[in-house]
Amino acid sequence: MSRPLLSVVAPVYREEGNVAEFCRRTTAALAAITADHEIILVEDGGGDGSWARIVEESRRDRRIKGLRFARNFGQHYAITAGLAAARGDWIVVMDSDLQDRPEVIPELYAKAQQGFEIVFVARQDRPESLLYRCAQRLFYATFRWLAGTDYDPAHGNFSIVSRRVLAHYLALNEQLRFYGGILAWLGFPRASIPAAHGRRHSGNSVYTLRNRLRLAGAIIVAHSDRPLRLSIGFGFLMAAGAFAYGLAMLVRALLGQIIVPGYASLMVSIFFIGGLMLIVQGIVGVYIGKMYAETKRRPLYVVAESIGLPPPEVRP
Ligand code: UDP
Ligand code: MG
Repeated sequence: MSRPLLSVVAPVYREEGNVAEFCRRTTAALAAITADHEIILVEDGGGDGSWARIVEESRRDRRIKGLRFARNFGQHYAITAGLAAARGDWIVVMDSDLQDRPEVIPELYAKAQQGFEIVFVARQDRPESLLYRCAQRLFYATFRWLAGTDYDPAHGNFSIVSRRVLAHYLALNEQLRFYGGILAWLGFPRASIPAAHGRRHSGNSVYTLRNRLRLAGAIIVAHSDRPLRLSIGFGFLMAAGAFAYGLAMLVRALLGQIIVPGYASLMVSIFFIGGLMLIVQGIVGVYIGKMYAETKRRPLYVVAESIGLPPPEVRP
């Protein structure tokens, strides 16, 4: 079997209305580069007709392959599974809802040929209001600082990497996987190209604000221990403040200035310190929880079925 030059990996979650159109447009875009390609669709346990669509596409064109997860694991796990199966010299990762426009792939590939082993698409159109964009900018600045990574909000997962970069990516076996974050950590020469972000072809995004904030929290914990150091700093600050306050009280007591015992201030400081301690413990707890998840050494995902690819293996 000859090695295909280009692999496309796309996670699929409740995209039954998009699979056929995605395959059609992606195959057309790839044809401009080479006929030697494969499209790997990873169905992330959505329970809808997506898998049936993938099977249909695979029967029609053998270069279209599929994996089906036993349950919903999340898009970054689906990406990991697709990447593990990819055989290309260059590997494109993109969403399957056609928001990442397949027509951009030839530009990505051309940029990569200029000597960049990682090329991301920077999404251009931002139709949101000015206020929303300001809030978003503030959020990402805080986020970047807390997460300690060079994260560009214009970058989604739409990207191309070389086989060498992919091999290094697959060597990282941690539970918390964020494609862009791990690639940034690997540190190969990177570039990005601007491109417009499309509308969803069919269906709705499954991500709500709550989901996104949860994802942001997980990325922060996965990539940095800055919140832990922040809580230590808070502790020192509180202790220093309490010490200074205590000194002041001592002086005032010696001068006979304290007449009424301060019940209110006592209660306030007890609750304040109590709350602060709970926060700090919570932060520590989150990291311990992540360590527990890592130490179990579970597989990252469970593949139930495959088409066009070797049957899923169960490692002992
Ligand atoms: N996706 C997935 N598993 C999930 C959620 C989403 O594989 O649990 C896929 C989805 O099919 C799509 C991509 O991840 O290809 C991005 O999802 P979505 O379009 O909902 O997110 P948005 O574009 O709004 O960020
Ligand atoms: Mg989308």
